[in-house]
Amino acid sequence: MDVTRRDFLKISGAATAGLMLGSVFDLMPIKAYATANPPEWDTVVASICPYCGCGCGVLVGSDSGGLITYVQGDPDHPINQGALCSKGAASVQLCTVDGQVNPERVQQPLRRSPGSSTWTPIDWNTAMTEIAGLIKAEREANLQKMGDAGVGEDESTYVNRLETIAALGTAKDTNEECYLFTKLMRALGIVYLEHCARV
Ligand code: SF4
Repeated sequence: MDVTRRDFLKISGAATAGLMLGSVFDLMPIKAYATANPPEWDTVVASICPYCGCGCGVLVGSDSGGLITYVQGDPDHPINQGALCSKGAASVQLCTVDGQVNPERVQQPLRRSPGSSTWTPIDWNTAMTEIAGLIKAEREANLQKMGDAGVGEDESTYVNRLETIAALGTAKDTNEECYLFTKLMRALGIVYLEHCARV
């Protein structure tokens, strides 16, 4: 459908009217409920929502047993100023459901073997050792020679370039952690780097 300039102005006007109507909704019942049901926590720490690259600030409250009881937007955080989207607002369920530790929460590494459809829990030492071994084997098998990398004809000298591993960073990391992650990957010769905020 072709939209003329006149159509565009009509649509924009309708959208603006809708927004203005929204501003007269009565938020008092919601405010009253929030006032009558304040968060219950013994300790609270400031953290960052792990879900996306916006990096909203959250306040995470927990009871005396360490169980997380509440997550809310941090009003002092410069990015979200107390607001959270639905994902961030529901993030308490990462840890706690109905006052109990979420039984679905993954608390240790899981391995799915090639061709398998099931995940097997493994301990951290096993996971780190296996990952390190796989990276080492991949470098030994596929680290590029100068000729492969298009920097001359020399087929006997390696360059630190590995195209068979890709690395995906996370919005949960700080700038400094992302910097260290990038440094490590570059040291391994990995050239395919991405970040979930760009995917
Ligand atoms: S609260 Fe929503 S917008 Fe903010 S970081 Fe979390 S997922 Fe992203």
